[in-house]
Formats: sequence, C-alpha cells, structure tokens
Amino acid sequence: MPGFEVIDQKERKEISKLFLKQNGILFAHGFDKLRKNFHVREFEKKICNHTKSKYCLAVSSGTAAIKISLLALGVRAGDEVITQAFNFIATAEAINDIGAKTVICKIDDTLNMDPEDLKKKITKKTKAIIPVHMLGVSAEMEQILKIAKKKKIPICEDVCEAFGGTYNGKYLGLLGKVGVISFDFGKIITTGEGGAIITNNKKIFEFAKQYHDHGHENKYSSRGNDSAKFFGFNFRMTEMQAIIGKVQLGKLKTIIKKNKERYLILEKILKSKFKVRKIPKKSSQTYEAFIFEVNSRKRSKIIKLLSQKGFGTKNLPDAIKWHCSYFWGRGLGKKEIRNSLVSKEKLSENIAIPIFLKKTIKEYFNLANKISKIN
Ligand SMILES: *Cc1c(COP(=O)(O)O)cnc(C)c1O
Repeated sequence: MPGFEVIDQKERKEISKLFLKQNGILFAHGFDKLRKNFHVREFEKKICNHTKSKYCLAVSSGTAAIKISLLALGVRAGDEVITQAFNFIATAEAINDIGAKTVICKIDDTLNMDPEDLKKKITKKTKAIIPVHMLGVSAEMEQILKIAKKKKIPICEDVCEAFGGTYNGKYLGLLGKVGVISFDFGKIITTGEGGAIITNNKKIFEFAKQYHDHGHENKYSSRGNDSAKFFGFNFRMTEMQAIIGKVQLGKLKTIIKKNKERYLILEKILKSKFKVRKIPKKSSQTYEAFIFEVNSRKRSKIIKLLSQKGFGTKNLPDAIKWHCSYFWGRGLGKKEIRNSLVSKEKLSENIAIPIFLKKTIKEYFNLANKISKIN
C-alpha cells in the first residue's frame, strides 16, 4: 500500500535527469548512442540483488506477469490452474485469457490457500498452482510445496501484495518455480503501473523475456534484424517506470519497518480481544494490513469508526467483490462459485485495517484503544 505515500523529490529528480541528461529515451531497448543508462535492465538487476533471485523480468503489470508466467510454465487452453478464493481477480483473468480453467481452492486461517483443500482440487488436468500471499502474508508454503512436488505440478507464487515478505529465509516468489510482483499504485512499492517476474529458472526467464517483447531474442544489435522463434506480445515496461521503481525499491525496507511499527501497536492492543489472522511460523510479513475476526454486533461499529477516522478498510470488507472469487460469476463457472462459498463466509467475518505511513503511530494507538472499548 504505502509506495505512493512515500513518493517525493527523489523520484522527481530521477525523472528530470532522464529528460535533462539522457535525451528522454523512454524505451527499454536500443538508442544506445543517445543514452547512458538502461533503466529497466538496472531495475531488474536491483530486484535480483534485493531478492537474491537469479533472474528478473520487468513487465507492464502484475496481471501480465501472471499470464506470461503461466505460459512459461506450459499452461495452455483446456488446462486447469488452481488458485485461492481470497485473491485478486487478476489471477483468474490471466488463467482465463490463456483459455485455461480457474479452479478455486479454499482458504485456511492464514486466509491464503488451504493445503488440505488443495490436495482435493488437483486433477490430471492441473498444470499449475497459484498460491496468493494476500495482504503481506505468506501462505503455508511448506505444505503447499510438498503437495505440488509429489504431484509434479509447478507453482507460480503471486507476490503482488507481499513483495518483501519471506518464508523460511527466502523471499516470497522464489519458493516455487516462478513469482510475480505488481507495482501498481496500490502496492508496497509502485511504478504507477508495472510488474515483474522473478525466478531461478533460466528457461522460464528466457521464454518470458522473449514473449513479453514480441518474441525478440535480442541476439542482434539491430532490432529490425533480430530473430524470433514464436509469436509473443508487448508487455514491456518503460524507462520512466523503471526509474521510479529503482528509487522505490530503495525505500522498501524502510516501508516495511514503518509498517511494522504501526501493525505492532494494533496487535498489542487488539490481540487479546479478537482472533487475529494466522501468520505462518517460518514467514515474515510486510504488514500491509491488520486483519481480525469480528462477527458480533461490534462489527458495524468498528467499520463505521474506521471510516470516520479516515482509515477505511483494506479489501475486507470494502473491496471484497474484487478479492473473493465468490463474486466472479461473470468469469467463473457455477462450480467454482460454490467452491468459494465457505471462504466468502470466512472473509465476511474479517476486518482489515490498512497500514498507512501518513497515519502516525499515535493515530494507530488511539484507533486501537477506541476499537478495544467498543462493545
Ligand atoms: C494487484 C494484484 C495483481 C495484479 O497486479 P496489476 O499490476 O494491478 O496488474 C495480481 N494479484 C494480486 C493478488 C494483486 O493484488
């Protein structure tokens, strides 16, 4: 969330430099004589260094990153891809765009993919599994990885809402075969619109790199003479986005640290009164939102208070229709809607308090005290 909140003169200065000193070259490729830097390539390198990923490809959006990754994993029309009920519609749209079928898995107390239900949802047609680390928190990856490995099904982690989080000491996105990140305007760091793919798998990276750029192999210095093995598409990131991304990435650790300070205040005051979302043991989260269960008559009072104090809620409940597959009848079949019902009921009992950096620790302290006194 807070990426947009921390945009300041640093981003502005770098953008100005692009025009004043580098001839305003906005394209990621070529024009070598007119510029000194290749910002998209530099941004990718920085993401590799940050996450200790072997490869990174910056693309135009997180949604594009999911589609490209699924194609790179070999998913084609008619295949099945399993993802979870608490999600963002982008995963289902990417699966749908390929002509594959979205299969919905229930959520557990982490509010992410339930490993037990995952086992039941795997069929001969399953070609990929997309666990989605919603609102900064990892899914139970150890169990999910074990199941996927046994069935030899690749995992594409959707890290769009949890970039910077870890599991078992590894950055989320690198536990499965490929991970996707989003830099849209609501994410922890932002480039306005944008996304990235991280992977340690060279074949996946090579496919993605070619596919996102009309199939270009970039073997020859002239793009006009370049070779290509297949039809791709245009999902490229621009230099302006990458410049902002480089600055924002430098702020990521501080953002997480400041998020955490606010989150811990809420946790300290509210954890004895409410059932708080489960955080997997071996994980570290990015503290996007503080989520807790309230199904009593306190619920509407808390939501009203959050709105009055200018916090609102993050997805639960304010944007549940975009984040719970139960509401996606326009794209999913009846069976998947039925499969989503239990998860919808669970999500409907939760409230997510968004973490904003423009709100002070004191404001969170006061908010938590007010909530704890509601009866
Ligand atoms: C934001 C988001 C996406 C899509 O990212 P865009 O960059 O907006 O296309 C995918 N999955 C999840 C979980 C998201 O939150």
